[in-house]
Amino acid sequence: MTAIDSHDEIREAVGRLCRDFPGSYWRRLDEERAYPTDFVRALTEAGFLSALIPEEFGGSGLPLSAAAVILEEIHRQGGNAGACHAQMYTMGTLLRHGSPAQKRAYLPQIAAGTLRLQAFGVTEPTSGTDTGALRTTARREAGGFVVSGQKIWISRSEHSDLMILLCRTTPLEKVAKKTDGLSVLLVDMVEAKKHGLSIRPIRTMMNHATTELFFDEVPVPAENLIGEEGRGFRYILSGMNAERILIAAECIGDAKWFIDRASAYASQRVVFGRPIGQNQGIQFPIAKAYARMRAAELMLHEAIRLYEAGENPGAEANMAKMLAAEASWEAAEACVQTHGGFGFAEEYDIERKFRETRLYQVAPISTNLILSYLAEHVLGMPRSY
Ligand SMILES: Cc1cc2nc3c(=O)[nH]c(=O)nc-3n(C[C@H](O)[C@H](O)[C@H](O)COP(=O)(O)OP(=O)(O)OC[C@H]3O[C@@H](n4cnc5c(N)ncnc54)[C@H](O)[C@@H]3O)c2cc1C
Repeated sequence: MTAIDSHDEIREAVGRLCRDFPGSYWRRLDEERAYPTDFVRALTEAGFLSALIPEEFGGSGLPLSAAAVILEEIHRQGGNAGACHAQMYTMGTLLRHGSPAQKRAYLPQIAAGTLRLQAFGVTEPTSGTDTGALRTTARREAGGFVVSGQKIWISRSEHSDLMILLCRTTPLEKVAKKTDGLSVLLVDMVEAKKHGLSIRPIRTMMNHATTELFFDEVPVPAENLIGEEGRGFRYILSGMNAERILIAAECIGDAKWFIDRASAYASQRVVFGRPIGQNQGIQFPIAKAYARMRAAELMLHEAIRLYEAGENPGAEANMAKMLAAEASWEAAEACVQTHGGFGFAEEYDIERKFRETRLYQVAPISTNLILSYLAEHVLGMPRSY
């Protein structure tokens, strides 16, 4: 039995909760590009979003495998955890690197659902994947920092009270490595919006509440610096394995949803006097998608096993994320094809899920960057960038 199999009760409870939020709920939000406030509230009230917060701070202190089960099940039921998954992994930055005072101040409120930590501000329009080249700057002033710059693709920032922000505190020309001199600030979004932060929503092909942020001399108190100044990149990196693992779990949930839908429809849709699923041309893409999903799932379980054993599963977490994102996309393709014209009809939810699952090959990390990690860090080939 793997760690993931020991959370059947959680899986069932999440499944029950999700059944109150059927396809029609997600379709309406998708049409309106609206945030799933009721769903996120229900998840929070049931304690699922504080699964990883230690009990001493009011959470359930569960291992990462439990969080993976929660997110997988949301996706398997046809929902989308993109609206709230960040709370699970961004909170880790505060938990691992925050001061005792910061943890006491924020974690119990996050666990209780009175404070939302859903926003994670790293990406910028000019630097993209090259995080060390980011330009948003926090200047030291009496009492704290003053932040200026721009971020893009910062999801959920309109639905979050706090944001983990990565910004430059030492100019690029004064650091040995370009990933040095970056710091993590915990930004109070309510205060920041009153003092120079503007948020512009970006409409995307799926409903993701993502935005562009403009910081115009936004003050952030010194006590909101997480960890040591200049070491922020390491703090963000330290949360990446968990992030990759949780996103992979969502992709596995999506793949299972597509495969269930495709195989059920193939068995019941009759054309030329027999179920289309009797034709191997229909069966095989679904069976192949299933095999790929299972392979990705095994890699995910291996990544979780290593993570929970206290090891650093950088390679496995990255591979799980890449393979699971590819598996969900392959399953999505097979599902659309199996449904013929109905795959395009909104009321079947397939086209919505198809759009949603495509994201994971680009964000939070793109496939090329995973491949270059494997090529350089696992296979020892020369660095390409
Ligand atoms: C809906 C959505 C939500 C997001 N939410 C967040 C969020 O909440 N917070 C946040 O900080 N960011 C967020 N992101 C940003 C996301 O992490 C980035 O889009 C992603 O990391 C890719 O960066 P980029 O878009 O700047 O692409 P670029 O860096 O411009 O890259 C473009 C393409 O070129 C490839 N590429 C770049 N360099 C190389 C190289 N050296 N070798 C090979 N290929 C290369 C990339 O893999 C990619 O395919 C989100 C993005 C989207 C679309």
